[in-house]
Amino acid sequence: MNIDNYNFAGKKAIVRVDFNVPLDENGNITDDTRIRGALPTLKKILADGGSLIIMSHMGKPKGKVNPKMSLGHIKDAVAKALGTDVQFAPDCAAAADMAAALKPGQALLLENLRFHPEEEGKPVGIDKEDPAYDAAKKEMKERQKDFAKTLASYADVYVNDAFGTAHRRHASTAVIADYFPADSKMLGYLMEKEVKAVDNILNNIKRPFTAIMGGSKVSTKIGIIENLMDKVDNLILCGGMTYTFAKAMGGNIGTSLCELDKLDLALDIMKKAKEKGVNLVLGTDCVAADAFSNDANTQVVSVMDIPEGWEGMDAGPETRKLFAETIKPSKTILWNGPAGVFEFDNFTAGSRAIADAIVEATKDGAFSLVGGGDSVACINKFGLADEVSYVSTGGGALLEAIEGKVLPGVAAIEGK
Ligand code: AMP
Repeated sequence: MNIDNYNFAGKKAIVRVDFNVPLDENGNITDDTRIRGALPTLKKILADGGSLIIMSHMGKPKGKVNPKMSLGHIKDAVAKALGTDVQFAPDCAAAADMAAALKPGQALLLENLRFHPEEEGKPVGIDKEDPAYDAAKKEMKERQKDFAKTLASYADVYVNDAFGTAHRRHASTAVIADYFPADSKMLGYLMEKEVKAVDNILNNIKRPFTAIMGGSKVSTKIGIIENLMDKVDNLILCGGMTYTFAKAMGGNIGTSLCELDKLDLALDIMKKAKEKGVNLVLGTDCVAADAFSNDANTQVVSVMDIPEGWEGMDAGPETRKLFAETIKPSKTILWNGPAGVFEFDNFTAGSRAIADAIVEATKDGAFSLVGGGDSVACINKFGLADEVSYVSTGGGALLEAIEGKVLPGVAAIEGK
């Protein structure tokens, strides 16, 4: 079923969104991107004359009620964004009466799903090593089904628009779909867009295809690096992982970030790239600092020869040029992970050079996808989010999708 073709008139729709927005100490929203992201879906349902039951998690309350993570904090913001009143159900598992009373055009926001351990379906208070763990897990899985069934009982139709949690098989993201027939469950607009963007990267590649992987560690990116190796023409590896590669090649890396147990893996990646004809692009020079601080002293040095007591914090000028030259002629671009400690203003140049080159390539007709946590913060910091083809709202979900894994949240609806 496709959301655009579905008429919600007279129907009650339960929609899983990702309203896990950052709050300040007073409970005020500091970034409402996720709320804005879900609006097309929510507004379509109301405009059709449906009633809306909105559900989300916030933070990691670990199955317990935690007032700091109450979705009550964002009720007014959601109402404002939707342009209509929003009622609030203080317990998502006891909202049947409120849901039943909803009239067409009315909206109800459920309290944080993760106040109930059943949402995640993981047993609480028991260690994985405990001999009773397996039995506890089995029991929790049964409770998860009941919880999902309760949520499902509120509505006639289920919509999943929470891409950020689509890689989790939780009650509200996947299990609930079992309680709706195929013609009464669907992806929301945001999910559709995310899935299409990933499809463009994986299955609709215009060449050259350049992937830029940065961030702090090789270990968290290895799955995606291996998967991309079969697809890309150019693979730029930057950020903190640069120094694991430099060390593996026998360089002196001072106090730079390094995963000593991943040196062989780094050499293996280099070997595989050669075998597969992938142009692996690593930084040659870096901006090194004498402390992990924005105000540290800096010098530009070779990544293979960083002085004792200094650490590589950003890509150097030669590297920035190399990265930009690789990116600009590309027709498909994926960027995940910054090229330096971009949170410090003095170490943004590498990430900025990448962002600028992506923007230029996009103007020349490339499809560019920026995603995964910090790259989004980075592109937002530069004010360039509107100048790339797509900025994904997913972190882990995006990476898993690009690794080629089927996302449980998508599979539950598409029946794969
Ligand atoms: P990740 O979560 O793995 O994508 O890593 C993102 C983090 O990597 C950001 O907070 C960056 O500050 C950090 N990062 C990027 N380059 C470096 C570097 N050369 N040294 C230390 N941290 C870095």
